[in-house]
Amino acid sequence: MKLSIVIPVYNEEETIPHLYHAILAALESFQSGWEVILVDDGSSDHSFQALEQIAAKDPEHVRLISLRRNFGQTAAIAAGIDFASGEIVVLMDADLQNDPADIPLLVAKIDEGYDVVSGWREKRKDAFITRTLPSMMANKLISWVTGVHLHDYGCTLKAYRREVITGFKLYGEMHRFIPVYANSVGARLVEMPVRHHARKYGKAKYGLERTLKVVLDLFTVKFLSSFANKPIYLFGGTGIVLMIVSSILLLFLFFRRIIADIAVSTSPFFTLGVTLFVLGFQSILMGLIAELLVRTYHEAQRKPTYTIRTTIGFPKEETQLDG
Ligand code: UDP
Ligand code: MG
Repeated sequence: MKLSIVIPVYNEEETIPHLYHAILAALESFQSGWEVILVDDGSSDHSFQALEQIAAKDPEHVRLISLRRNFGQTAAIAAGIDFASGEIVVLMDADLQNDPADIPLLVAKIDEGYDVVSGWREKRKDAFITRTLPSMMANKLISWVTGVHLHDYGCTLKAYRREVITGFKLYGEMHRFIPVYANSVGARLVEMPVRHHARKYGKAKYGLERTLKVVLDLFTVKFLSSFANKPIYLFGGTGIVLMIVSSILLLFLFFRRIIADIAVSTSPFFTLGVTLFVLGFQSILMGLIAELLVRTYHEAQRKPTYTIRTTIGFPKEETQLDG
């Protein structure tokens, strides 16, 4: 199987037949095997019945997963990825705001040798103040914090070589950070403008509050991608800086006592100095605990601390180390 298209579906009953036909039309001239994995995320309308109809019509291409309740878009995507058998996984929304006609273009780009092709809704058709503007700011922030420079993290339509997205679990709203994870395991990323349409059927599932969640998730992602293997660098670094500041403060008080005979304990700097010292020390200890956790994490899952692109000359079994 060459290509798996993974689509989360939550209350999209009207779109589903149109979605299916658009995908079929887009992949008409696609030479290799493909499947579309539709994940019903506990819809409360008739989405599942609509999905069943197309699955019955086209068992060669259509796969269905039905979650027991609404777990959210990220979890639905994760389920789809777990069941995907294609070498390339394309993620897409069900609402046809993304255009299936872009799929072959994304796949062609992967075939040029990239691991991630990130769709970018260059001409976005959503409300400006509540959607496009907050998303623009979030994108700037994410790209600055993570150092992975993409214009559009929120665009679900992206293509991935499967091995760069199967090594980690997705939590919260984190599907938009998949490129950041992929980058941290050494994937080659490229960006590609894709079409975007206004929603024709059904309702958007999110509002402004999502931007806040995205910003919170960003902390986790930054931490995991930069320090997951060496948390002591973050905690210990912070601890050392705090202890240096506190030492300067306390030394200053000490010498002022000797030279100018000003009491140490009445100065607010004394309290500050002692507090910073304790915080710094604690931070270093926390770093050590985090180091223990990292070891448990890697060793419990037998996860190597590296990822391999290719190996040459080894017998086959020994090249299966990653994942
Ligand atoms: N979705 C989902 N579970 C949810 C919310 C949304 O699977 O709890 C799906 C939804 O059906 C759609 C995609 O996620 O396919 C994106 O949702 P929406 O179009 O509302 O988001 P936006 O376009 O505003 O990012
Ligand atoms: Mg949408």
